[in-house]
Amino acid sequence: MNYNVAIIGAGPGGYVAAIRMAQLGLSVILIEENKLGGICLNKGCIPTKALYSATKLIERAEDAQAMGIEFTTPVIDLEKLSSWKEGVISTLVDGTAALLKANGVTVYQTRGRLEGTGRVALSTGKTVDAERIVLATGSSPIEIPGFTFADPHIWSSDDALALREIPRRLLLIGGGVIGLELATIYNRLGSKVTILEMMPEILPGIDLDRRTIATLKRALKAQGITVRVNTAAKSIEETSEGPVVQIGDGDAVAADRILLAVGRRPNSADIGLETVGIEPDRRGFVPVDKKLQTSAPGVYAIGDLVPGPMLAHKGSAEGLNLAASFVGQNYPLDYQTIPQAIFTDPEIASVGLSEARAREEGQDVIVGRFPYAALGKAQGMRETQGFFQVVADAKSKRLLGTQIVGAEASALIAEAALAVQNGLSLETIADSVHAHPTLPEGLKEAAEAALGRAIHAVNR
Ligand SMILES: Cc1cc2nc3c(=O)[nH]c(=O)nc-3n(C[C@H](O)[C@H](O)[C@H](O)COP(=O)(O)OP(=O)(O)OC[C@H]3O[C@@H](n4cnc5c(N)ncnc54)[C@H](O)[C@@H]3O)c2cc1C
Repeated sequence: MNYNVAIIGAGPGGYVAAIRMAQLGLSVILIEENKLGGICLNKGCIPTKALYSATKLIERAEDAQAMGIEFTTPVIDLEKLSSWKEGVISTLVDGTAALLKANGVTVYQTRGRLEGTGRVALSTGKTVDAERIVLATGSSPIEIPGFTFADPHIWSSDDALALREIPRRLLLIGGGVIGLELATIYNRLGSKVTILEMMPEILPGIDLDRRTIATLKRALKAQGITVRVNTAAKSIEETSEGPVVQIGDGDAVAADRILLAVGRRPNSADIGLETVGIEPDRRGFVPVDKKLQTSAPGVYAIGDLVPGPMLAHKGSAEGLNLAASFVGQNYPLDYQTIPQAIFTDPEIASVGLSEARAREEGQDVIVGRFPYAALGKAQGMRETQGFFQVVADAKSKRLLGTQIVGAEASALIAEAALAVQNGLSLETIADSVHAHPTLPEGLKEAAEAALGRAIHAVNR
């Protein structure tokens, strides 16, 4: 079988690349050993966000009392919740299959492996020949010494999303994005959650200002989630009361389940890299150049398999960029302006530079902030925690970065991302008429504040 392009892996990197390449007239085969949509649709973005929104109702129901509306205590039917979440996933997986079909992509549901230049061996015994091969095999959760997923007390994010039980005490090892999102969900479901993070701060490695992290930490504390930073899980002991995790100096934390969320490693083993001479880096990532080409001519790699933020939309953007370059077109890809959303309570979303990073880089910046509490819409929603922050170049007033912590931050960041990605100025945002009363007014007011002319906050 001969194709222009063979893609291994149908996550948001691979399937998006496949659709766009087919739209551009290339013959494409997409090889996937599991379900279409990859980790994102099946065990990542979608199930977490479905459960995030379902469990938000529990919190809202409790909160409604203060607005004069009382519900009885919510009853959680775990089986029904789980099958609703599975329904969401299968709707999207079926939709992806339909889109691939409609665009003329050939899909093979089997394992694929590079077998020298221009060839993929399938586990069915067949081979596929293609002018170009795209590796989009994604990533898997990491274990740490002494803690393995073979231990029935230890969960990966996959186990947590399977929603088999609500542990009374849940210990999360890892205070990164995935850990915090699952902590939020299980806390709402009623678990007593403790998070251990070995670094001095939660969300390590993400360019967020201290004020943003501090706002989240205050909220986590108020929700009854215990966060212990500078704390590494050393070993696990089984006792008659359940597992106990040693954290050094004779200190230990008892739990009913332990959720290991310490990161993910790229799926670069056993995909035949050696057959074309590609050497993964020391963490297992496949190195690529600016054109996403590996060291082997005609072999490209995208998504979680290559260095960079492990985000679905980053993988998709790489797929779109690659598709365009295959036909001599351009699709912009700027890693500095990829937005990120974190589904904690409150949500955090950011794009571009933090204030601290901009100053570290020696940039002369102006900063504007605006609190949710000053927005009429936020007051009416009883969602007054958090703020909007914009960072701009002092001279040109070009927006360099935005951080939003508060309700719907994940959606609100889109306007800031558009501005940062297109080099727009504070004035462009401030002078654009925003509908009232809405949460996006917070971004406009933060831009006004940076310019010293906020209307609904005192300018200092
Ligand atoms: C719990 C959780 C929550 C997340 N939430 C978000 C979020 O809210 N937003 C966000 O942007 N990102 C989120 N992510 C990250 C996101 O899921 C990943 O960045 C994204 O899925 C990476 O896409 P990908 O295409 O590179 O790989 P994947 O989605 O991992 O897909 C790779 C596919 O390749 C297949 N495959 C692997 N090897 C082979 C082979 N040899 N042959 C055939 N098929 C193969 C796999 O079965 C898989 O389907 C989350 C991740 C997790 C775990």
